[in-house]
Amino acid sequence: MSETRRHRPATLLVRGGLNRTPFGETAEALFLTSGFVYDSAEQAEATFRNEIARYQYSRFGNPTLTMLEERLAALEGAEACRLTATGMAAVHAALLSHLKVGDRLVASRALFGSCHWIVSTLLPRYGIESVFVDGADLAQWEAALSRPATMVLLESPSNPMLELVDVGAVCRLAKRAGAMVVVDNVFATPLLQRPLEQGADVVVYSCTKHMDGQGRVLGGAVLGTRKWVDEVLQPFIRNTGPAMSPFNAWVILKGLETLKLRVDQMCRNAAAIADFLAERPEVARVLYPFRADHPQHALALRQMGAGGTLVTFDIHGGKGACFAFMNALRLVDVSNNLGDSKSLATHPATTTHMRIGAEERARLGITDGTVRLSVGLEDVADLIEDLAQALEAIPAGAARAAE
Ligand SMILES: *Cc1c(COP(=O)(O)O)cnc(C)c1O
Repeated sequence: MSETRRHRPATLLVRGGLNRTPFGETAEALFLTSGFVYDSAEQAEATFRNEIARYQYSRFGNPTLTMLEERLAALEGAEACRLTATGMAAVHAALLSHLKVGDRLVASRALFGSCHWIVSTLLPRYGIESVFVDGADLAQWEAALSRPATMVLLESPSNPMLELVDVGAVCRLAKRAGAMVVVDNVFATPLLQRPLEQGADVVVYSCTKHMDGQGRVLGGAVLGTRKWVDEVLQPFIRNTGPAMSPFNAWVILKGLETLKLRVDQMCRNAAAIADFLAERPEVARVLYPFRADHPQHALALRQMGAGGTLVTFDIHGGKGACFAFMNALRLVDVSNNLGDSKSLATHPATTTHMRIGAEERARLGITDGTVRLSVGLEDVADLIEDLAQALEAIPAGAARAAE
């Protein structure tokens, strides 16, 4: 509903897109239906001729999905939004709906694993040239974008090293090269970073992460201009079918109502944990964008509203010490997910970033001692106690071995 668009994020998260049925239900209605019926054959014909706007089939549109699309568009400050079944379907649709043989895409190297696969493996199969740059190095962006390009894909902060890309600067370079900029904004969430205001054209999300944030459903979203969404993205989604389930859209709508409360608290917990880890002798290095020792701290302050919900750190002693630490955790779970209300620890080198190989991991700065911690909503004192006892459980030999 457009009249709610002027409200602030906390209000939009609760009210944005709300469209009640004549029953006047309090909560958003769940339209768990695959299709819709018509009053007459004439009405069906007029609908398919686009003469009247009406729901036809849930692969093209569904009222519960519309509420979530409008809520996310209002929150992002985007003209339009389309949902997909997963975050990867959103990235795939954003890229493949737009690119064609002979096009050129420039991407930051530090991408979510499956995004990296799409750029490095899938796109070249279709005759699309893909070029990787080190996202933090503006000179590399400038060199890659000194030639015409069709699209730019970047992620900031990146997974798992929390490396930042100067979104505004890359958008200016991309404009000159004629490229459309797609930002994967999952780690920052719509609350901490606003890529469209910095010049990006399209923003993509995995709704699986902070938006649901309670470990229940998968989902994805693509946001952009009305024209691009209607003319480029929607025909692709309509005809290839990565539609989100209305049930999942409903769960994510309800998840959004608490997104700000959750993300604000998770950021406070993450900042406290980063400071705690930085003082520990077992920890070689802590990466958290709002700590003064983050290599891009000034950019983080300029570009983000808070440091985020993830903390990445290196433990002395490599894989053995990391595994001892992770296995000793009693509260924090070992998982490859993130953005959840439960704190989750990941060893990227042996899980999410195993397939990219040792050489690419080294380039990204991922070591065998790197741990990615997705900080949740537990009491931060309990989390710190758990991390402390798990660090103390690392056998002395393991910690010393690699020093
Ligand atoms: C999780 C994630 C994705 C993919 O989302 P799914 O919902 O798992 O398909 C894409 N990009 C980033 C940065 C992610 O964290």
